[in-house]
Amino acid sequence: MSVVPNDVDAYMGMVSEAVVKAEESILEHYEMELPNECVGMIWADGSVQRLINQARSSDRFSVSRTQMAEKFAEKTEEDLLIGIYHSHPNGSPVLSPIDEKMFRAQFKKDLFIPWMIVTPWQFLYYWLDDDDRIQARVSSIGVRV
Ligand SMILES: [Zn+2]
Repeated sequence: MSVVPNDVDAYMGMVSEAVVKAEESILEHYEMELPNECVGMIWADGSVQRLINQARSSDRFSVSRTQMAEKFAEKTEEDLLIGIYHSHPNGSPVLSPIDEKMFRAQFKKDLFIPWMIVTPWQFLYYWLDDDDRIQARVSSIGVRV
């Protein structure tokens, strides 16, 4: 089951609006965590919740369920989570093989949360469609040089 409705363009319009509001905060987070990956959650109103990358790694991330639960507790039912972001300090917006495994495993556990990969040049937004294919759209471009 896909979290992204069939009208992908309208949905991505909403995502892009949130990303524009969140961009500065996410890029600041990106730079703060270098050389490691940063990870956090982005909400439809453009707010961002930073998480701790417990893997402390430049090529993967790990977040405990406790951390996620604490952040969810700060939100209400009306708040819409549009994605979990993490950065790729190597500059590639493509899911790594480990990412792909984790992404699919997450969806199997019925957590329908899209992901967004953050690089200084591009944010790429990922979700699974109804046929379990990974879909991706650019959610922000040309942020910084
Ligand atoms: Zn990754």
